[in-house]
Amino acid sequence: AKRDPGTSYRFYDHQLHVSVGHQLRLEADLRSALRGRELELYYQPRIDLATEEVRGVECLLRWQHPTRGLVGPDEFIPAAERSGLIVPIGYWVIEQACKRLKECQDMGFPGLVFAVNLSFRQFHDRKMTETIFRIIFNANIDTSLLELELTESAMMHDPDYAQRCLRELNQLGISFALDDFGTGFSSLSNLQHLPISLVKIDKSFVQALGESADAEHIIRAIISLAHSLQMSVVAEGVETEGQLEFLRQQHCDEIQGFYYARPMAWEDLVQFLNRRNQS
Ligand code: C2E
Ligand code: CA
Ligand code: CA
Ligand code: CA
Repeated sequence: AKRDPGTSYRFYDHQLHVSVGHQLRLEADLRSALRGRELELYYQPRIDLATEEVRGVECLLRWQHPTRGLVGPDEFIPAAERSGLIVPIGYWVIEQACKRLKECQDMGFPGLVFAVNLSFRQFHDRKMTETIFRIIFNANIDTSLLELELTESAMMHDPDYAQRCLRELNQLGISFALDDFGTGFSSLSNLQHLPISLVKIDKSFVQALGESADAEHIIRAIISLAHSLQMSVVAEGVETEGQLEFLRQQHCDEIQGFYYARPMAWEDLVQFLNRRNQS
């Protein structure tokens, strides 16, 4: 079919049609998911390499779909971004994370950091800072335990805006992490004037360890540069002992990955924390 322009035109036209219909249905479903409380947060622990303590958790969105079961964010966040629905969904995520953070404090896990992902579109919502301010004020949390994860592209699109927003939120106590580091185009030195305390090395580099010498060099360079800028480093996607050992030797501060724990439901996180507290 590829060699026949006529056929291939119809083929793509058909695909386009299907995908627009699919997109609209997905959006309608998402809207009712938000209203109907089908969205849920999963929590993945982050472990301090020096002390082996759980330093915090990343909050990861899941959709408990009535017929499809548990759906991961890669399947619906792009549609939520395109439709703008990511903005109300994102505020719901922050609200829910703050509620759980408060519960953790009340349960006797006081120092646990809760990290929340902020996408490009959320970050550029005009009401972002005031809405986040209202959410954390109502939640009555220790704001130094709330961390927002942003990618380089969200921050570099409009550096002046990013600087203003990050400073405002940082003054309230909120800290920032640079997510998926290494995959974008900017360098850490471009970002040094922003209040970023943490860099997360993208899992693609961690998972290439042992297969590519470049991955080793890149990870070494990121860790040493981040440390020289007084930033901590979390490596994502750590699945094996070998990856862990390499990262330990490089003085990476924290790791997050299936090796220690997968993202889990709230009840499972509470059990996980209790078990670790006892041992
Ligand atoms: P991310 O921010 O890079 O989150 C880390 C992803 O890596 C998660 O995928 C996590 O389950 C996965 N992961 C962690 N450890 C391992 C490992 O050892 N091996 C492998 N193969 N994967 C690991 P998840 O939960 O599917 O989330 C995918 C992406 O969706 C996230 O990537 C983030 O960009 C986005 N996302 C998730 N929740 C939210 C949210 O509340 N708001 C926004 N805007 N984006 C979100
Ligand atoms: Ca993240
Ligand atoms: Ca990431
Ligand atoms: Ca990612």
